[in-house]
Amino acid sequence: MPIDVGPVYEGERIRGNQMYVELGGPKIEKKFELVRVSKNVTDGKVTINGPDLKDMEKGSTHPIGIFVEVFGKILEEDLEAVFERRIHEFCNFINGVMHLNQRYTNWMRVSIQAFEKGLNSFQMIGTILIRLFKAELPIIEKAQVTFYTDTKSIEKPHKMAMEVYNARDERARGLHDEDVDMFYGCVLCQSFAPTHACCITPDRTSLCGSINWFDARAAAKVDPKGPIFEVVPGECYDVFAGHYQGINDMMKKRSLGEIEKVYLFSGMEFPHTSCGCFEAIDFYIPELGGHGIIDRSHDGPAINGLPFSAMANQTGGGKQMPGFNGISIQYIASPKYQQYDGGIKNIVWMGKALKDRVAEFLPADLVDKIATEEDVNDINALQAWLEEKKHPIIETDAYKIAVGGGEEEEEEYETAGAMVPMGTQTFTVGGAGGLGGFKVILKNCKIHAESVIIKKLDGKRKK
Ligand code: SF4
Ligand code: ZN
Repeated sequence: MPIDVGPVYEGERIRGNQMYVELGGPKIEKKFELVRVSKNVTDGKVTINGPDLKDMEKGSTHPIGIFVEVFGKILEEDLEAVFERRIHEFCNFINGVMHLNQRYTNWMRVSIQAFEKGLNSFQMIGTILIRLFKAELPIIEKAQVTFYTDTKSIEKPHKMAMEVYNARDERARGLHDEDVDMFYGCVLCQSFAPTHACCITPDRTSLCGSINWFDARAAAKVDPKGPIFEVVPGECYDVFAGHYQGINDMMKKRSLGEIEKVYLFSGMEFPHTSCGCFEAIDFYIPELGGHGIIDRSHDGPAINGLPFSAMANQTGGGKQMPGFNGISIQYIASPKYQQYDGGIKNIVWMGKALKDRVAEFLPADLVDKIATEEDVNDINALQAWLEEKKHPIIETDAYKIAVGGGEEEEEEYETAGAMVPMGTQTFTVGGAGGLGGFKVILKNCKIHAESVIIKKLDGKRKK
């Protein structure tokens, strides 16, 4: 191979001006990656449908379908999703290849440097994937990879992939936390977000959307010491919040003490951490005391004026960020969806495409009351919409306080600062020794400012 391959390259970023080509991602409608267990596998075979890397123009963007077929005597279908998630990791092992996301949102870049060194064919990427799959997961005996890189050839396999994802999700929707006595954890994303671990329960599919409870169970069974492992729920402190001793212990250990407590079903109090590959973001709308949901494919800003990318920066990185919670789309369909915060009835805005996708799982009397970008464009219009449609949120205290209805509530807001999501703020003290400085942690503090003054620093003037 003309380039190096190894875990050391995980986390490598390839910016727009460093990339030779871009594959999939937000500009491309159809893209996917899929692993299936099959009996008809020719070990080592790589097939390319559409232009190869060397036929692509510098700076161009193309569809990408990666279809990996694997064979092994003890392989079962339940393992497919877990194998599939490893495509992300293995592609990132390649020096000069960046891979983001999963399933039908995958996004890759190949750097100019890697291309110039000779990484100019999918044949090489396919061979690397096959070798890594077999080396890292010895239960895989044979593997073959097929790439699809143009809009025509990707059409059929993309449809097939979507059907497979839907079937997996449907099976998982029938199962709930109370039906099982084991949860799972995943730390595959720690190379990007070192304090992040996913808690995977039947009701809370992993935030990347690609590992549900069944998948995690199968993975932990074949590789108990691997990145996906069992989490004994232990004592349940609060079933409504999804607060378990076993999950706290796991989070504390896996985040090296950074995170001590997680409420599975809240985006506001001790929320689940978010790495970077969440399918969607549940965000708080302080002006209305409700929540919105924006998904990765959403074009343009959400109702709060922020596009997905800006909110993603706020949400990700493995911190607990009250008010911004990375979620899977599947989780929206769970009856326990953010129930500690008021549940699905607190959702006042959703991206249109996402709403269409999940509409069949929302309470029938709520669907028409959730606004999208096609209905309203700012908070005031949204408030008028909610009142007109009689959205259930208008009956809640959170809403009344947020919109300032009545003196009493106004006072409560002034004194309790009820609108502001609170959390743990950490920062480094300037001038206290650079990297080796102090970390000041303000726990559960509330900060009130009369005004905020932003001044441009003039280097020449004496401070
Ligand atoms: Fe694992 Fe969670 Fe990352 Fe998905 S988002 S790969 S479940 S750590
Ligand atoms: Zn992740």
